[in-house]
Amino acid sequence: MGYIELDVVNNDAPRVVIGIDLGTTNSLAAIWEDTGPRVLTPDGMSASIPSVVHVPAEGNPVVGTDAKAQAMVDPEHTVFSVKRMMGRGVEDLDLANNPLPYKVLEDDRKLAMVELHGKRMTPQELSAWILVGVLEHARKATGSEVAAAVITVPAYFDDAQRQATRDAARIAGLEVLRIVNEPTAASLAYGLGRTDAQTVAVFDLGGGTFDVSLLSIEEGVFQVLATNGDTRLGGDDFDQALVQLAREDLANDVSPELFNDPAFLQAARLSAEKCKQALSSDPEAELHLALPDLNINYRRRITRPEFEALIEPLVQRTLQSCRRALSDAELTTDQIDEVVLVGGSTRVPLVRAQVEAFFGRAPHTALNPDHVVALGAAVQAHVLTGGTRDVLLMDVTPLSLGIETMGGAVSKMIERNSTIPCSHKEGFSTYAEGQTGIDFHVIQGERELAADCRSLGRFSLKDIPPMPAGMARVGVRFALDADGVLTVSAKEESTGASASIEIAPMHGLTDNEVETMLDAGFANAQEDFDNRRVVDLQTEIGTMLTAIDRSNEAAQTGLDRESLLDLTEAVEAAKKAQTTHDLPQIQSARDRLEQASLPLATILMDGVVKGAITGKRVDEL
Ligand code: AMP
Repeated sequence: MGYIELDVVNNDAPRVVIGIDLGTTNSLAAIWEDTGPRVLTPDGMSASIPSVVHVPAEGNPVVGTDAKAQAMVDPEHTVFSVKRMMGRGVEDLDLANNPLPYKVLEDDRKLAMVELHGKRMTPQELSAWILVGVLEHARKATGSEVAAAVITVPAYFDDAQRQATRDAARIAGLEVLRIVNEPTAASLAYGLGRTDAQTVAVFDLGGGTFDVSLLSIEEGVFQVLATNGDTRLGGDDFDQALVQLAREDLANDVSPELFNDPAFLQAARLSAEKCKQALSSDPEAELHLALPDLNINYRRRITRPEFEALIEPLVQRTLQSCRRALSDAELTTDQIDEVVLVGGSTRVPLVRAQVEAFFGRAPHTALNPDHVVALGAAVQAHVLTGGTRDVLLMDVTPLSLGIETMGGAVSKMIERNSTIPCSHKEGFSTYAEGQTGIDFHVIQGERELAADCRSLGRFSLKDIPPMPAGMARVGVRFALDADGVLTVSAKEESTGASASIEIAPMHGLTDNEVETMLDAGFANAQEDFDNRRVVDLQTEIGTMLTAIDRSNEAAQTGLDRESLLDLTEAVEAAKKAQTTHDLPQIQSARDRLEQASLPLATILMDGVVKGAITGKRVDEL
């Protein structure tokens, strides 16, 4: 493993490295501190950032809680589950069974795109906005700029999905230290500081993806033995099962096209999720859909057994993946020492019960399943920036990589569950007399026929000198880097003619496209955020100054000399800050004004309510 030493000391502003769990439903950031990793929670905010982007008609997209609040107000322009679209074509999304309230299109390269106000945005761009939101969150929590980050992806993400994640970070202007598999990150958080040798199963069921990884952890070496999963299976599917139930109940009363109405789709999804979550703690819950505009007011009580019957086949699919992972690692369930649960959907009692029955042991629940991936990413960020060398991570590639050979068969170049980074070289030859080029088709998957695997791209090696059939010796090299991302190079060895190849990604962006997106506003995102904060703070200062002005008499008569002087100075500084655009100055003036106005707020309080509102700002009274 290579170590990157980051110059985080000699910059003007303090800079930090963080771990980012870029989730389907929620995203989180975490940082390493002396005592260990900690999830970042800015004051007064929640740790998790909804992975939702609202794109208004004008201005920059809004991310997180503010965006989620728009889901019902402006359903067509509020995008969720972006992660499911990353590196995917429209045919992968199965829109007939999973209709979305926003418009998904496909470009001529079959790249999925969302149309918002007539403008097309790729999943990579939308994901970049989520990352911009995460960076802002981290900045608020730490008061520092983010220098670089480790980003996690599902272990079962294929090459196109990993490339798409890297592109999203590039568009957001974020340096990626490493892309780490989510269950592997979770195991880092779990196994940190453990000295006993263990074989661990990490069962990770989130909003949109499922992964299971089997690892051995011994003296700081985390070695992934096998990984398996499904990038299209998660809590969203549990929600859809409930939505389907509502649709069936409503079928006689509601015209079918209403089921595709954006307002119906968003409301159904949100109500189903609420009902599902309630069923994790209650024996029954209500599925309630109130859409007066569509003349729908639907209520149904769902019992936990009813819900469990709906999701049972989905839970079985997760266990099928566990069986495959065990078989790949040549392990049996009684050789697993610990089962670690990760992801919000492992809160579903049926999931816990089935996992427990399958592995024959109660899962480890000491770690918060929502936080553990981000915490592990922060550990890895710390390791990669030279923080500790006691941890070594040896991850694997989830899917085999190969080349299509004559007749549509697959020649495997790198087998699944190979430890990364790794490379493999294979010789190919011409099959026709005087042939001057060879076409290669790079695929990923486990099936025997190329048509049944995922196509990663095609390339041609040209300018091979004409030779008799079978004489040319073309060496093709596949290299998987530590992020699990593939590069391919080829060389005609008998003559030394070589070509390095860039695979045109099937569902990815070209370098030029990424550059264009970078130009189109992301570079300014930080500035835009700052501008917005300036406006927000100026408004707050204005409100506070008005309130203080209104209470001038009370201040003059009620405050002691020192407090009055302090307040007068703070008011002057705030007025001065109002004329500038300097964010740190405005922030500190606002904070100072808040502090200096506390004594005034106290004397303004009525004696009776005093106890209840101590510590409020003057403008809140
Ligand atoms: P994650 O991707 O790990 O953030 O997981 C998000 C998924 O977990 C979503 O589908 C949530 O609806 C689901 N989830 C969160 N909390 C609960 C809960 N208490 N019961 C059931 N599912 C939950």
